[in-house]
This record gives sequence, structure tokens and C-alpha cells, in this order.
Amino acid sequence: MTPLAEVTDLLQRLIRVDTTNPPGNETAAAELLRDYLESAGVECRLYARDPSRANLVARIPGRGDGSSLAMLSHSDVVLADPAEWARDPFAGELVDGEVWGRGALDMKGEVAASAVAMATLAREGWRGSGDLIFVAAADEEVGDGYGMRWLVDAHPAAVRTDFSVNEGSGERVELGGRVLYLCSMAEKIGSPFVLRVHGRSGHASMPAIADNALVKAAPLVARLGEFEAEPQLIPEVEEFLRVLLGDVPPAADALAAANALSPLAGELVAPLLSMTVAPTRARASDKRNVIPGLCEVTVDRRLLPGQSAEEADAAVRAWLGDGEYELETIQREGGTRSPIGGPLWDAVTTFVEQEEPGARAAPFCVAGGTDSHWLRQAFGTVAYGFFPARMDPEVSARLIHSANERVPVENLDLGLRWLLHAARSVCA
Ligand SMILES: [Zn+2]
Repeated sequence: MTPLAEVTDLLQRLIRVDTTNPPGNETAAAELLRDYLESAGVECRLYARDPSRANLVARIPGRGDGSSLAMLSHSDVVLADPAEWARDPFAGELVDGEVWGRGALDMKGEVAASAVAMATLAREGWRGSGDLIFVAAADEEVGDGYGMRWLVDAHPAAVRTDFSVNEGSGERVELGGRVLYLCSMAEKIGSPFVLRVHGRSGHASMPAIADNALVKAAPLVARLGEFEAEPQLIPEVEEFLRVLLGDVPPAADALAAANALSPLAGELVAPLLSMTVAPTRARASDKRNVIPGLCEVTVDRRLLPGQSAEEADAAVRAWLGDGEYELETIQREGGTRSPIGGPLWDAVTTFVEQEEPGARAAPFCVAGGTDSHWLRQAFGTVAYGFFPARMDPEVSARLIHSANERVPVENLDLGLRWLLHAARSVCA
């Protein structure tokens, strides 16, 4: 089998292992990968906080103490409702050069390409100067503490690494005639809060005697729906704009400048210029005939890397103005970044130049979060999200976590070439 045929076959088999999280059951995927890698002579170990939810770590030990590189991925997937799909989401069918199934893009395709890169290098007898590590982590999609968050804490020696590549970016975008491959080196901070509005409960048959907290919350929710914050340029967006536009406009003009070049550029940049808020959940009365004395609205909020909780709360309060409400931040997670530059960045830029002369790699920040965060936080790892993809980014964005997810085989080939290039350059 050619390496590409191996990636395709392994991806099909991985899709057939249902790792919908919850409950995950990633051990079955970890064992499939272990069997494949061990037959190529790669040493593997499973690490599990719960026996059904194993993380796989495989390693090609280095010759010396050069830089180590991890190919990081996750083996769990989100729910798929077969009724919405044109094909069985867990059959892994290969149709017209595309592998169909839940996880094809997010991210069993990269899992399979990473495993085949390991196997290919091991069979060649390749050894880097530092270790080459492959991690297929559990529980990325929910993050209940069975995957990377747990692994860096419980088994740091197994996953400590100088560099890592993971999901997050890599998409080829054409913006105003320029071809860019995005490489994410930073993530926003997840910092959701609860907006609590108080009133006074009462019988719904006599609304006038009560003070309806739900009604009082409504204008605040509407106001949050229009939230705007002062734009700021983080270093990753500054570099992205420099590659895209040749120079960097002031923060206040950045969105207009990106939009003027192409609407897609505007879409990409918009969530990265400031914190964002999105009300997603509300809870008031449990009874139809009881006027609620309390309304709680959960608001998804994403801060720029480096932005403080105080700054974020002050911005929301200033936006809402005075009133009978409380804000409570319920979490703060993510927001780490890696420097732009160094051996991994060199590997990304040389790869892009080789693959498509004239195209350029561009630094980026992901609006959501990935497992790269845990490596950066625990070990100061230089962790990038880069798995190159030549699909239309608007098509792939529609398929991820949605129906009819599928990946072109030629994309897996590009990804495999990248991972081999990364290993050979970073661990040289
Ligand atoms: Zn993912």
C-alpha cells in the first residue's frame, strides 16, 4: 500500500469506531492506532484516567537531545444524527475521492495522517535528533478532564515537547488575489459569564403584583446581542494583516481594510479584533403560571489573548449601563500563544513555498480553543495549529460538527506531506 492508501484506509477504519463524545469510548480508537503503529515498529503506550477513555502516545526516540516535536490530535468526535446525513456517518465510505464520516475533518483525517507519518518514518529507520511524538488524545470536544488537560498533569514526561502541530488552521484562502495558508499560533480565552437579573415572583394571573425578572432581562439580552468593543490589534492579527495588505492599518480601520480586500478576509478578522459576547442560554421560571423572581442568562464570551478578567467585566458593565443585574464570570480557560518564528515557523513557510510557489503562510489566532493550549501552558511548547487544506474554507466550515462531513483524499496527501516535512525539519 502507498502511504496515501494507508492514510485513507486507516481513516475509514477510525471513522467506523464510534467515538462520539459523550461518552467517548476512545480506547477502541487508541487500540486500533496502537496495533497499526506497533506493526511498523513504533513504541506505543495508552494512558487512561478511565479505562474506556484512553489517550495514545507513540514515540520515535531521538538520537540525541535535539528538539522534540509532537503531532497532536484528538480521537473523539461530536454527535452525528444519521437522519441529517446523505450517508451513514460511521461507515467511512470512500466516494469519488472523498472519505465520508463523522470526524473526517475534525479530526480523524489528521489522526490517520499523523499515524502514517510515524509509521513511514519508522519503517525507513529514520531517527530525529530529538523525539518525534504522536498523541491521539481523548475528550477534546467536551473537555471533562480525560484528555490533554489530564495528560499534561498526570503524565507530563509522556507528552512534554518543545514543538507541536495540531488542528486549528492550515486552510488555503484566496483573499483579494493573494493565496495564504493560515497557521494559528494563539487562541482566544474562553470566559463565559452569567447575567443574573432579580425581580419578585408572583402568580402569573396577576402580573401587576409581581416584578418579572424575565421581562427585565430581555432588553439586557438584546443589548448584549449588539455588543461592540474597541478594536485592538494582537500581534498575530498584525502579522496576518501585514502578509495580506503589505502594511498594517490602525486597529480602528482594520476590519474595513480587510473587508475592502475580500468579505472572507473581513469574516476571518472580525472575531479577532476584540472580545466577543453571545448570549446562549436562559433560565427563568420553571412553571408556566409563576412569574420568575430570577432570570439567569449564560453568555459565551471570548477574550483576546492577554486580556484581563477585570477589563472584560468592565467592558460588559459599561455596555449594559446601570441596572438591577449581577455579572458572574464562571470560567477562564485558554488564551495562550506561541511566538511567530523559529524552527517550526520555518518549517511552515518552507512547506508552503514548496507546495505552492507564490503562496504565503500567514500567522493567525483561532477564535475558539484547541488542545494546543494545554501544551503551551504546561511546558511552554511552541504549539501551532497547521494542517494544510485546499478545500474551500467556507465549505469545510459548514461541514465541521455538521452533517455530511467528508474530506478529499488529496487533502490527506497534502497533510501527510506536511507532517513528514515538519518532522524532518524540526527534529533534523
Ligand atoms: Zn477538533
